Amino acid sequence: MEVSQRVLLVEDERPIRDAVAAYLEKEGYWVTAVADGQSAIEAFERKPFDLVVLDLNLPKVSGEEVCRRIRDNSDVPIIMLTAKDAEEQRVQGFSMGADDYLVKPFSPRELVARVRALLRRAHAESDPQRDRIEHAGLVIDLPSHTVSLDGTDLDLTASEYKLLVTLARYPGRVYPRMELVEKVLGYDFEGYERAIDSHVKNLRAKLDDDPRDPRFIQTVTGVGYRFDPSGSGPSGGGPAR
Ligand code: CA
Repeated sequence: MEVSQRVLLVEDERPIRDAVAAYLEKEGYWVTAVADGQSAIEAFERKPFDLVVLDLNLPKVSGEEVCRRIRDNSDVPIIMLTAKDAEEQRVQGFSMGADDYLVKPFSPRELVARVRALLRRAHAESDPQRDRIEHAGLVIDLPSHTVSLDGTDLDLTASEYKLLVTLARYPGRVYPRMELVEKVLGYDFEGYERAIDSHVKNLRAKLDDDPRDPRFIQTVTGVGYRFDPSGSGPSGGGPAR
């Protein structure tokens, strides 16, 4: 029997907050629900959470600021709740390190599915076949979930980490966006191909990888992405199978 996972729910609209909290609790999660950004930051500083559900339009401190503050010292999965058609807000949210988003109005059932998927991959443990993936200065240590580049540790979100591991496990293989959505985000929905692009963009920035002259991640026009560490060839940590 696994220990209940703790979810921090940040939502100022009481009916939504109560409904989401009730749903999550019914699914066996421990829920701490707060109604503004300042309370969210304080709650997060007081104790660790396994996942954060974060409304972006909040009183006192905005959801964007809460996201930024949490990301300063945690890679906890974050699901943002955004207003309808606030695409710019969502893009911003991803750039601040959110892992997923839901557009209001959403069904609590859908939220629970996303929470479950995010927690599953955040806690997905090491590949039993391999502990370490190494290419051209990039080292991914699977048991500890740490990534370093040229000896410097990188601070990746859960989604960026999963994306990198997925790509780097099979260098040279082209991954269509939809496949990455399924493998990395854990569900399929047309709109989320854009989410993958955002994660790739953030990951590239952290890898200091120039899309026009990629060291690691190549864009395959019209299809998706491929991990192809330049100059390292198929040697090093090749595919496990
Ligand atoms: Ca709100």
